[in-house]
Amino acid sequence: MSSSLATVAYLGAAILFILSLGGLSSPESSRRGNLFGMVGMALAVLATVFGPRVSPSGIAWIVVALVIGGGVGLYAAKVVKMTQMPELVALMHSLVGLAACLVGFASYVDTSIQLQGAEKVIHEVEIYVGILIGAITFSGSLIAFGKLNGRIGGKPLLLPGRHWLNLAALLVVIWFGREFLNAHDVQSGMLPLIVMTVIALLFGVHMVMAIGGADMPVVVSMLNSYSGWAAAATGFMLSNDLLIVTGALVGSSGAILSYIMCTAMNRNFISVIAGGFGSGAPKKAAGAGAAAEPQGEVVPVSALETAEMLRDAKSVIIVPGYGMAVAQAQHTVNEITKTLREKGVDVRFAIHPVAGRMPGHMNVLLAEAKVPYDIVMEMDEINADFPEADVAMVIGANDIVNPSALDDPDSPIAGMPVLEVWKAKHSIVMKRSMASGYAGVDNPLFYKENNRMLFGDAKKMLDEVLGALKG
Ligand code: NDP
Repeated sequence: MSSSLATVAYLGAAILFILSLGGLSSPESSRRGNLFGMVGMALAVLATVFGPRVSPSGIAWIVVALVIGGGVGLYAAKVVKMTQMPELVALMHSLVGLAACLVGFASYVDTSIQLQGAEKVIHEVEIYVGILIGAITFSGSLIAFGKLNGRIGGKPLLLPGRHWLNLAALLVVIWFGREFLNAHDVQSGMLPLIVMTVIALLFGVHMVMAIGGADMPVVVSMLNSYSGWAAAATGFMLSNDLLIVTGALVGSSGAILSYIMCTAMNRNFISVIAGGFGSGAPKKAAGAGAAAEPQGEVVPVSALETAEMLRDAKSVIIVPGYGMAVAQAQHTVNEITKTLREKGVDVRFAIHPVAGRMPGHMNVLLAEAKVPYDIVMEMDEINADFPEADVAMVIGANDIVNPSALDDPDSPIAGMPVLEVWKAKHSIVMKRSMASGYAGVDNPLFYKENNRMLFGDAKKMLDEVLGALKG
């Protein structure tokens, strides 16, 4: 492939990536957005592999790598459960970071790159910064992976003087950066590069360990952004324009997503990154899933009673959460919605921006079950409507409907806007036990007078509710 043809293909791929991001901004157009992304990526890979910078003898190696990498990716995508998707994404981000580090070291030791003067300095700065971002992304994403799958606890690790430690790490990195740029040959430049990489790896671990469970959504989107900047840095090292553009697109959209997540959780971005949120009073931050100390009496209901309450209602708001994803109950939820709507009940869904374990988690599940988009509302659109609802049905959600976020300034989730389901005439919370949610906080909603608890696996309970509604 000639170099001008490769450039045209790169341009086409870049446009497709922009269209893809545009498509992903709304559930209606997201399938199209995904398709644009896939076509763009195929075009980019073909133009790179068969482009002017790969020698014919190198193609065989690349094909072998493609088959192995593609095979592993295909297998992972096939076996991963929907609830493990956020962990998979975190793992993918870590690989982007690792790739940036490896490309950085390879570019540094590559003797075929002979640059002088300013060009050499620029290339070395690219390498240094690329490895720095890559190493932070790599180790930070691995810790995020551990926190998302529960192997690492949600409680923030707050080392004494952690801000000073971070500042010291930054100064050391800058000092070694100067040493690196002043090095006369690869051997003497290697030591500062390795020291910086180790510090960056430790910084990535420290940064994510210091962030509380409740703030993990911001970390996930932030690492998404970092992985984009790591890819852009790799593009600079390899002088690959498409990688620079694509990395910048991912980096900036991830940064916007982090901002949206921070706004949704009423957090200051800098404070989240500085860590420590989500620690709260130790007795309250019991850790995700821990059985919370009961703070009162709860009123259990049966599936039959739930069906009766739903049938008698004029207006129902359904609040899905992580438990709906675990139980894979979205299809039954759709069936119940259809049945109620046929009976003339007004059914709408209320989606909290951090419901589930990844941005847009609930939208994806509801779209998969073919719930009509026009009854799926964002938190801001529907929160004021709860007082008019006869029943608010909470399916496997906990933190996002926790009134202590508004009432208790000591709560680890204090200040986070939540779906005010307790303002409905009745609320029904469907979950298996009294265990807390991801943030490890007890939920006073359960003890409210107008709240009922439907204990059991969401899929099983909803099947029973559906049976009773149809029967
Ligand atoms: P939560 O984790 O707060 O609560 C989920 C509830 O679902 C649990 O209390 C659990 O209770 C219940 N549950 C689990 N399995 C089942 C099942 N099979 N059937 C019925 N219920 C079940 O989830 P939310 O969606 O309310 O809130 C999301 C939380 O995750 C927030 O704290 C958010 O900050 C965090 N987070 C969000 C991310 C994002 O990007 N969206 C990323 C990382 C973290 P029980 O065990 O009793 O059944």
